[in-house]
Amino acid sequence: MIEIWSKYKRAILANCVPSSVEANRGVNYWRNSLFATTLIFILPLCFIALIPSLFLITFENKEYITLLHFITIGLMCFIAFVPSVKTATRKLIFSLTVYAFAITLNIFTSPSSGSVLVYFLAACVYSIIIFDNKYAYWWSHLVLFISIFFGFAIAFDLIDFSHNVDMSSVNEWIAVSSNLIFLCYLSSALIPKIFKGIENYISEQQQLKTELEASKKALQVKNEELEQYAYVASHDLQEPLRMVTSFMHKLSSNYGDQLDEKGKKYITFAENGAVRMKQIVLDLLDFSRVNRPSDELELVDLDALLLNYLELREGTIAAASAKINWTEMPTIWTIKPLITTVFHNLLDNGLKYRKKDTAPSIDISAREQNDYWEFAISDNGLGIESQFYDKIFKLFQRLHNSNEYEGTGVGLSIAKRSVEFMGGQIGLHSQVRVGSTFYFTIPKKINERQD
Ligand code: ADP
Repeated sequence: MIEIWSKYKRAILANCVPSSVEANRGVNYWRNSLFATTLIFILPLCFIALIPSLFLITFENKEYITLLHFITIGLMCFIAFVPSVKTATRKLIFSLTVYAFAITLNIFTSPSSGSVLVYFLAACVYSIIIFDNKYAYWWSHLVLFISIFFGFAIAFDLIDFSHNVDMSSVNEWIAVSSNLIFLCYLSSALIPKIFKGIENYISEQQQLKTELEASKKALQVKNEELEQYAYVASHDLQEPLRMVTSFMHKLSSNYGDQLDEKGKKYITFAENGAVRMKQIVLDLLDFSRVNRPSDELELVDLDALLLNYLELREGTIAAASAKINWTEMPTIWTIKPLITTVFHNLLDNGLKYRKKDTAPSIDISAREQNDYWEFAISDNGLGIESQFYDKIFKLFQRLHNSNEYEGTGVGLSIAKRSVEFMGGQIGLHSQVRVGSTFYFTIPKKINERQD
């Protein structure tokens, strides 16, 4: 039953709401939807209304009413189901049928015009709503024309209105119908105003959406260009840099004894500069690679990852008497090189930005939430003022100079990019001279992809 009802609905919607208006969801789309929904409900009602209609044939010999009823049902079925008819034509047939029904009621059956006038008003308001604003007055003109027609019919006795109390004199008819005409014209003036407002609002929103999409696309293109540029630049810089380093080395070993102290110092400066530049180039290369990892998702045992880190940094950890603590870490589906970079960069910073008089102590924890994992890495180091929380994640931004603490200002940018590439977020809480806690999340969605 539900299946039949939804098929029936879909058929009417497909006929009455053309896909061209469906795409932009403007006011016309809602007008057509309203019209289609009316048809969906009115058709069964037409069939139910056959019952009193058949009653009238049987007991009051009003066959013409039943005939009209069948004609109406036929028209409604035509409007609802015949394909390739324009929606405007369907609406026109519908509205005219409703007006015709009201006229018939007024002429033949209703003992008072009052109820029929309400019917006319409803038909007029409904037509104003489902048709374009520019036709709004047509429906009131039609009501005016019908009222005048009835006025003449009463005055010249063209039709037998003996059953209708309001139609006994022209004066009474004018008194009743003038109210109707006034209300219809009022509706013709007011309803389009509302639609105009909504239409303007929707087109503004659509304009904004289009502009937003265009600038998003432009930004994406620019970002890709920038990444490409960073990749090519850092890649191509490596070779000349290698030449500078090796010839500086040759210069100092072959001609070192011919240089005075100042000359030797200059060579050392140049060598140090080249080493630093090499680090920047390598970091930049890593940064540009984040958005194009060639690796697939895999199950990564974070316990093993951290143990591996301890092995790699054994010397640094021992030299600083550092402690790195964690309780059990999970195994998650993720991109191994990216998560490794994130942990390494955050832990390296925890070891690096320590207080001179205190051995570094770093705590690592993992918390499982509904949709994501949340990791925290807390150190007892220098701490960061809250005004720099955003700055430190930007490329080449540092709070310490490289004489004091070595670095290029790329590590946290890489960490942020990597976390965001995996769909997570990164942030921190910190207190100066107490320590910092860096948090990052890894959504489980990325994990489920392989489940
Ligand atoms: P780098 O360490 O190479 O300078 P990062 O991008 O990793 O680059 O860090 C940016 C800056 O943020 C650092 O220069 C440092 O001033 C600050 N910072 C990062 N981590 C910490 C930390 N754990 N404690 C204090 N300061 C930190």
